[in-house]
Amino acid sequence: MRDFIQALPKTETHLHVEGALPYELLEAWRPRDYPPNPPFRARSYRYQTFPDFEKILLDAALPWFTTPERYHEACKVMFAKHVAQNVRYVETSFHLPVTKFINAPGPEIIAAIRAAVPARLEVRIFTGMLRSDLTGDLRPTINQLHTWDGLAGVDLHGFEKQPTAIETAEVWARLRAAGKVTKCHAGEFDGPARVREAIELLGVKRIQHGVRAIEDPTIVKLAADRGVTFDVCPISNVGLKVVPSIREHPLRRLMQAGVRCTVSTDDPLCFANSLTEEYTSLALEANFTRAELVQVARNGWEVADVAPAVRDTAIAEITRLANG
Ligand SMILES: [Zn+2]
Repeated sequence: MRDFIQALPKTETHLHVEGALPYELLEAWRPRDYPPNPPFRARSYRYQTFPDFEKILLDAALPWFTTPERYHEACKVMFAKHVAQNVRYVETSFHLPVTKFINAPGPEIIAAIRAAVPARLEVRIFTGMLRSDLTGDLRPTINQLHTWDGLAGVDLHGFEKQPTAIETAEVWARLRAAGKVTKCHAGEFDGPARVREAIELLGVKRIQHGVRAIEDPTIVKLAADRGVTFDVCPISNVGLKVVPSIREHPLRRLMQAGVRCTVSTDDPLCFANSLTEEYTSLALEANFTRAELVQVARNGWEVADVAPAVRDTAIAEITRLANG
């Protein structure tokens, strides 16, 4: 099974740059502040609340991300790990408020990430923001996002129970009209109504997580009927106690109900996970068959923003492996 998972040409489409900072870079940089194997990186660790998680993430990552060059250094290591796992397409988002914290323009961060992309990987760069940023002092920046070269799209993340500002819908529609992909974290810490809000109010076709849609069959059906994709992160969901275990994860039920689901790692800095481990844990702990893992990998290529020939080649390779 491990060889099969390695051989699958994979995609990763829900990955936060700051949350993917390779911990070994921190250890090498400031060994006293970042000891080997901190408790939160054990697979058995459970974050008690979202704010606890956010604090650990920000305390670890923000001291590092002080310049665009640091994004470059982190992404070089992060992308090399993708190539080693036969991941060939990545969508990753950086946290828009960092542009304000470090006084660096977003396009410089995008260029720094872009310059770290190795030859064998296709990368699309997103920026993510908090729901409250739409009405805060980042709004003038948000109003310019359609002009940023190399920006593939936008994402809403952070504490999900914050209200979604009504003007978000207009901004998201305008960015889509400018050719950007729009995403939204929903159905992770809040219930299925937030998934409906993301689909109906914000018009997104890409939900980050979405797993709590399972609590309302009408919303599962809505997502399936509208061709919405859920970019699901099973190990993250367990670590944050969104679901009790991989075995009980609703991924299979969502897929069986016709929702296109992909699998990603979310924040490997916090969960010490890799994409290979996500697939492996689905196989070992939730008894995912080869056919189900093949479907997950195919789903990633179906939504990937790549040339048709690249998509066809990857899917043909997956089909050959499935039949082999
Ligand atoms: Zn996320």
